[in-house]
Amino acid sequence: MIADSFGRIHDYLRISLTDNCNFRCFYCMPEEEYDFTPASRLMQTDEIIKLAEIFVANGVKKIRLTGGEPLVRKDAAQIIAALGKLPVELVITTNGTRIAEMLPVLKEAGIQTINISLDTLQPEKFFMITRRDVFHQVRSNIELLLQHKIKVKVNMVVMKGLNDNEITDFISWTKHNPIQIRFIEFMPFSGNKWRSNKMFSLDEILAVIAKDFSVLPVKGEAHDTAKSFMIPGHEGSFAIISTMTNPFCDTCNRMRLTADGKLKNCLFSDSETDLLTALRKNEDVLPLIQSAIWSKKKALGGQLAADFEKIDATTIQNRSMITIGG
Ligand code: SAM
Ligand code: SF4
Repeated sequence: MIADSFGRIHDYLRISLTDNCNFRCFYCMPEEEYDFTPASRLMQTDEIIKLAEIFVANGVKKIRLTGGEPLVRKDAAQIIAALGKLPVELVITTNGTRIAEMLPVLKEAGIQTINISLDTLQPEKFFMITRRDVFHQVRSNIELLLQHKIKVKVNMVVMKGLNDNEITDFISWTKHNPIQIRFIEFMPFSGNKWRSNKMFSLDEILAVIAKDFSVLPVKGEAHDTAKSFMIPGHEGSFAIISTMTNPFCDTCNRMRLTADGKLKNCLFSDSETDLLTALRKNEDVLPLIQSAIWSKKKALGGQLAADFEKIDATTIQNRSMITIGG
């Protein structure tokens, strides 16, 4: 088992397959021109599988593939097929563009839940956020997953003045659809133009929803990073990921492997451990994993102020979200 010095067992690994993406979401990509990591510096197919096997042999029960956009990687199908054979729950976070072509692979690998990012239900605003004109493609891929009885969770990053006026529309979408909307508080990363006054908090989101709907809390799982809710009469549900105003650090069980093979013990940590170089030298990576997790800070990577209004995004030592893997 992999544990930290606060007794938190770490059994959930998020693997970023690539820092490349076919979208340009402004809140995720760094402001300046960004060169994607060349393929030779990324973990290769067999290296991803080998590292995943080591984590699974040491207690990991759930693996999430993310990125960048995980499904733009050319060997995504092979990786998914191989990881699908491991004794873990395999899930994926995607922008939803490549679902139709990947569906047979996803089903064959036994993937039962997919998180799709969709920050707006308005095609023009979608283009403004992502710089890509594929709103209808993403929407129809969500329908496709539902037809195939794959659970869909929709990630919506709420930003004040941009899409907070759509919260009620997203909730209305859950009336006749068995989807879960996951409202995410906007988080600061290197170069993502975060300002505390752009953040729309858990309390604000709940207040908006409560104006039109009766909301009931739902008891979640021990390690949930989201607070879950239901609305009587709705087929779907919603959750709020309040990393900024109500972080979930006390029960954190997550580790992150970046596409270039570095282990991050927290989304906000300013340090990382190079597993890929050690693996390529045939060294034992388990002690590296154990000491990286042991050194995990109690909360928010030891970097962010507990009071989000005091955070200065320009002083944060971290990668941009697209290079960490969300
Ligand atoms: N490309 C895939 C996608 O968009 O779902 C996977 C990677 S993306 C980095 C994973 C998640 O992180 C997405 O739901 C995205 O909206 C979220 N995300 C990115 N930047 C964020 C930020 N600054 N604050 C909150 N969530 C963010
Ligand atoms: Fe790409 Fe996902 Fe980041 Fe958007 S949020 S730029 S889709 S990685």
